[in-house]
Amino acid sequence: MTGLDDLPIRDDLRGRSPYGAPQLDVAVRLNTNENSYRVPEPVVEAIGKALAAELRDLNRYPDRDAVALRADLAGYLGHGITAAQVWAANGSNEIQQQLLQAFGGPGRSALGFVPAYSMHPLLALGTGTRWVPAQRGVDFGLTADEAVAEVRTHRPDVVFLCSPNNPTGTALDPAVVTAVLDVAPGMVVVDEAYAEFARPGTSDALALLPGHPRLVVTRTMSKAFGFAGGRLGYLVADPAVVAAVQLVRLPYHLSSLTQAAARAALAHRDALLGTVDAIKAQRDRIVGTLRDRGFRVADSDANFVLFAVGGDQATAWRTLLDAGVLVRDVGLPGWLRVTAGTPAETDAFLTAMEKLS
Ligand SMILES: *Cc1c(COP(=O)(O)O)cnc(C)c1O
Repeated sequence: MTGLDDLPIRDDLRGRSPYGAPQLDVAVRLNTNENSYRVPEPVVEAIGKALAAELRDLNRYPDRDAVALRADLAGYLGHGITAAQVWAANGSNEIQQQLLQAFGGPGRSALGFVPAYSMHPLLALGTGTRWVPAQRGVDFGLTADEAVAEVRTHRPDVVFLCSPNNPTGTALDPAVVTAVLDVAPGMVVVDEAYAEFARPGTSDALALLPGHPRLVVTRTMSKAFGFAGGRLGYLVADPAVVAAVQLVRLPYHLSSLTQAAARAALAHRDALLGTVDAIKAQRDRIVGTLRDRGFRVADSDANFVLFAVGGDQATAWRTLLDAGVLVRDVGLPGWLRVTAGTPAETDAFLTAMEKLS
């Protein structure tokens, strides 16, 4: 049998593990921040029609530049954003990979403030970009001064900011983004996968785009839209950034089926985004209930909650799994992350949590 180590694989990939959130067959799966609500029936029908209309033309390559889809995404975002400022790919993971291909790569570095999204260092690894893990402050906070000091020290080619941050859940003060933009020598990517779940009064980075050509905001339809299986992420930036990623994207990377399904989903955004308020209510219920029970809980602007288990998190994870609830061990000693889903899923989670009280 041939093992990985027998192959002439790149030295920097030796001994590494692939991204691997467990996909276990458990009744209550609250470990990957998916939207727990299934696609509503009228939207299923609309997507089905849109896909059917594409089938006869599958002999042809799709629109390489996904122009119609990008126009629809710009329309959804508002803020006067145009299609020329939007770029779409198979999930925001692919978007961020393209950004690192264009602005990172061998001899270059990318910096993130950990704990943050576990894919950022993996995408850096895959693109040969040196990863610089800068630390967050107390309670996973990040002040403008702390962020500026790290960027000044390391002078990375790409800075990743994540707001609301995964796995901690808290949104970033836009003043941190502007402070980093002022001192960063390269690109500043703000990963806003959870923007639609932010608490009232929280602002996103879209308003900062005018006058900041090195700012990139990445978004996704995987979370609030409940379209994780559809694989559609996008960036918003200066049109020059779109021109840059077009240099590295694979030709025809976004299939005509993906483009059609995403456009149909966007046309029904009111139905799809209709679950966001219900999910936010469950999130706030989880935060409130766990705090009432004496757990330390991070503030959340996302569809998940990070909580301290008061002991070893791997043991606590197993205890919850044995109680039929799958949550996420993000490798943060003493902490676990749970996705906010339906009221029934919250019931099951909070009941299982009684075993940890
Ligand atoms: C879930 C998530 C994404 C989404 O990735 P897709 O490829 O769009 O599904 C991006 N960033 C963060 C921080 C996430 O948690």
